[in-house]
Amino acid sequence: MKKIKKIFIPGKIVARAITSAFKKPATIKYPKSKPDIAPGYRGRLIYSPTNCIDCMMCMRDCPTGAITIKNLGTKENKEMHAYLNIGRCIFCCQCVDTCPKKCLSFSQDIMLSKLNRDNLTIEL
Ligand code: SF4
Ligand code: SF4
Repeated sequence: MKKIKKIFIPGKIVARAITSAFKKPATIKYPKSKPDIAPGYRGRLIYSPTNCIDCMMCMRDCPTGAITIKNLGTKENKEMHAYLNIGRCIFCCQCVDTCPKKCLSFSQDIMLSKLNRDNLTIEL
């Protein structure tokens, strides 16, 4: 007859397992519950066209070519729009720091996933 090995469970592990069973889980039921976003978190960019002078410095300094600023109006009557390829943006903050008119900032929006690659470019 085979000798059955005794399994020793150290008391520490048992105590931890019992404590964890009654603890609040560290994870959340996303997307039902919303995560707490830390202040200053770099989510989706926000663009405010009001003060934009169409200088293109944000586009020039973006290391990944993720941001595009377009004037869809005329030289005299500007109609500024900003587009971001969220598949390229690395949230480095360079465009925000570069903009002389403070037109760009970060939101706390983290819902950036897309099902289709073609939908990665969004208007800000
Ligand atoms: S945060 Fe960085 S990568 Fe994203 S658009 Fe601005 S400069 Fe480009
Ligand atoms: S750097 Fe600022 S002002 Fe210049 S084009 Fe970009 S958003 Fe507009």
